[in-house]
Amino acid sequence: MVELLGKSREELRAFCVALGEPAYRGGQIYHALYAERKFEFARMTNLPMALRERLAEGAQITLPDVKQRFVSSDGSVRYLFGLKGTEEKKLNTAGIEEASTEDTRENQRRSGRIQVPASVEAVYMPSEGRQTICISTQAGCAVDCHFCLTAQLGLIRNLTAGEIVSQVLVALGEQGTRNEGKVAGLQAGHESGSKIASGAKARVVATQPRPGRRVQPCKDRVDAQTQSLAATQAHGAIQTNVVLMGQGEPLLNFEPVMAALGIMLDPEGLGLSPKHVTLSTSGIVPGIERLAQEKARPKLAISLNASSDEERDALMPINKKYPLKILLEACQNYPLRPWEHLTFEYVMLGEVNDSPDDARRIVKLLAGLQRVKVNLIPWNPGELPYRESLPERIEEFRRILTDKGIPAFVRYSRGRDVMAACGQLALKEVHSSPLTVLSRNL
Ligand code: SF4
Repeated sequence: MVELLGKSREELRAFCVALGEPAYRGGQIYHALYAERKFEFARMTNLPMALRERLAEGAQITLPDVKQRFVSSDGSVRYLFGLKGTEEKKLNTAGIEEASTEDTRENQRRSGRIQVPASVEAVYMPSEGRQTICISTQAGCAVDCHFCLTAQLGLIRNLTAGEIVSQVLVALGEQGTRNEGKVAGLQAGHESGSKIASGAKARVVATQPRPGRRVQPCKDRVDAQTQSLAATQAHGAIQTNVVLMGQGEPLLNFEPVMAALGIMLDPEGLGLSPKHVTLSTSGIVPGIERLAQEKARPKLAISLNASSDEERDALMPINKKYPLKILLEACQNYPLRPWEHLTFEYVMLGEVNDSPDDARRIVKLLAGLQRVKVNLIPWNPGELPYRESLPERIEEFRRILTDKGIPAFVRYSRGRDVMAACGQLALKEVHSSPLTVLSRNL
């Protein structure tokens, strides 16, 4: 079966030509998938019946399984998605599958020829007139930032373009009904949030797997609800933001990430504005240089988190490979569009990187850059050996930056109580309650 989700218009055109169909049918499938968000061939009424039947026999559209949803008291929803594995079967000359050893399977996994099953997380964060979806680009991460427990998972595997874009499709689809309420007057979302706050601190809803029962994907619901979301957005009531800040380093999975972004930013695909899509990197300089060459690209955010090489080496070992001088040169050369700012994220770790001297060094570091802003992110407490900065220390840090003309904002994370906050995405196992999650991180 050929997987269609994640394919570009050109790939779908080539796929149709290979089937003996006119190339324009590929454009029609693209439209049905991403603009109309139809995930069943039977519902793609812009295609002739005979083609829909052929597609049902030889192709598939795979959305991730929603293993669990955790609803925060602030209205955020953390999704735990299950991603299927794929395996490239090696056939011998007689056409019989060769037995694969652990070694050959590991080699196949490393080379990307097989995809092991994996779990990743995404977070949906509603606010008045706006919805933000934070998505993952890898399962786990190899970058090893010391303040981040996702790093402790190691890199499990890269996600495909389809697996990246489908996190947005599922979250949008599931929230369609809620957004209809917002169009009617914003009350529905707020009411539901306050109900949760007055009751249990956080609750797990819907698809808890029961012993012996597999949770089925929710294609029908997503399909129906995304229709209403499309209608909602057509009224201009809800602004959709996507941030690539979940598990993984996006620039170390460059091609699939760019393929997914191509679909998200294409007016004939998901149609998101590049002003509302942000890619965050730990500072992979070759990736930043490649991104600068892309025609359709999101906004760029750099996860800075330190004011000197010594400090950054200790927090983010990637700094030894791409030290601040090289990273900031790449930032200086990055071609900003007229409306664009380069964002620096700075996680405030109490007594580690939050001193007034740190703030003054940041001012010097960013002095040569045009149009920057700094987001100060208070530490989300967890099991790692860091602590929160005092609010007055954060405020002093912010004031030192703004006094020197660098716009700086304090960004409190959403969904802390369900470990959906910045850097808390490192669920190792699925349990019946978010309180039994094995690990938390920044
Ligand atoms: Fe990877 Fe981001 Fe965690 Fe660093 S902070 S280890 S880049 S997921």
